[in-house]
Amino acid sequence: MEASPDPPTQPPFFHLPEHANIPEEWIKEDNPAEMRIVVPSWGTGDKKKYQVLMLKETRQLFCECPGFRFHHKCHHLPYLIGFSTKPLNQRGIQDTTLDAFFKCYLTLEEHEEVVLDLLHTRGPLTNREIAEELHWPVNCVTGRTNHLRHKEPPMVEDAGRKIDPTTGRQVHIWRAIL
Ligand SMILES: [Zn+2]
Repeated sequence: MEASPDPPTQPPFFHLPEHANIPEEWIKEDNPAEMRIVVPSWGTGDKKKYQVLMLKETRQLFCECPGFRFHHKCHHLPYLIGFSTKPLNQRGIQDTTLDAFFKCYLTLEEHEEVVLDLLHTRGPLTNREIAEELHWPVNCVTGRTNHLRHKEPPMVEDAGRKIDPTTGRQVHIWRAIL
């Protein structure tokens, strides 16, 4: 999937600071016009990655994830900026402090819009499936599906259960109410 080259029409815009130090293994492509950076996902224990595009001229960043496509902002860009500007000896992919920071980046309403958009597009999903699809920490999702379910009128409903292959436990499948 290609990161969108269309400039965002509304703030915030994300720029990679000049002093950012990106791990070499994250750089997938580096040419005079742009850099493509593949950043590991975190929090859900899967191996997925997401791709970030940086335009060299402005250092503006674009992410390929659905959250960025819908809202022009997501967890991944502040994660990349935070990680690459953090002192090297304090880095860790499973950095829980960064997790805590990024889960608060979108407003609750924006998180819910993205979750609803995804459920409309993809059909019923579990919290973990939603998290993996969006490359969010799973705890960014659970509160949102729960809130959407208890809204008046509800916007999400229980569509049954399945075994979560990661934990082996029964989990709810959530469906958007049209
Ligand atoms: Zn993203």
